Amino acid sequence: MKWWNGVWVLLAAASIASAPAAPAKIMIYPAKKRGIVIVVIVVKSDAEWEMIMTREEFRVARRAGTELVFTGEYWNIHATGIYRCVCCGTDLFSSDAKFESGTGWPSFTAPIAKENIADRSDASLLMDRTEIRCARCDAHLGHVFDDGPKPTGLRYCMNSAALKFDPLK
Ligand SMILES: [Zn+2]
Repeated sequence: MKWWNGVWVLLAAASIASAPAAPAKIMIYPAKKRGIVIVVIVVKSDAEWEMIMTREEFRVARRAGTELVFTGEYWNIHATGIYRCVCCGTDLFSSDAKFESGTGWPSFTAPIAKENIADRSDASLLMDRTEIRCARCDAHLGHVFDDGPKPTGLRYCMNSAALKFDPLK
């Protein structure tokens, strides 16, 4: 074997090693379609998010902030429609599952589909809570508690700033 054949083998191996990995995909459940769809997860830098979000949206959704009680856009909205992720547009909650919790934050008994959200334990602020995030873009949405009404007994306590309401026309 001539020496340059060996070089080509090395170059080929290097190009395979440095090839970008295929984007990660997840299954979500759109509100208006029947069945699961496969989507690419959304990953952006903080600078990219800041360009397309308000400061409050960024603080809540990308920095796990909490909006001031009774100040959000949606706690007192009772129209029919879909609440989407403010970052990536994933369908998260339906107005069908919204209830008046009296807390000052938009509250739901269930997400549109469990595939559309991710939960993780959150021990911050000396509390043992379960944080809810968007499954597609990892946006912080709020927390879930087990003191909700029927049928689930759950209270998804969300931040308006992490949601974008799309009223059903
Ligand atoms: Zn999202």
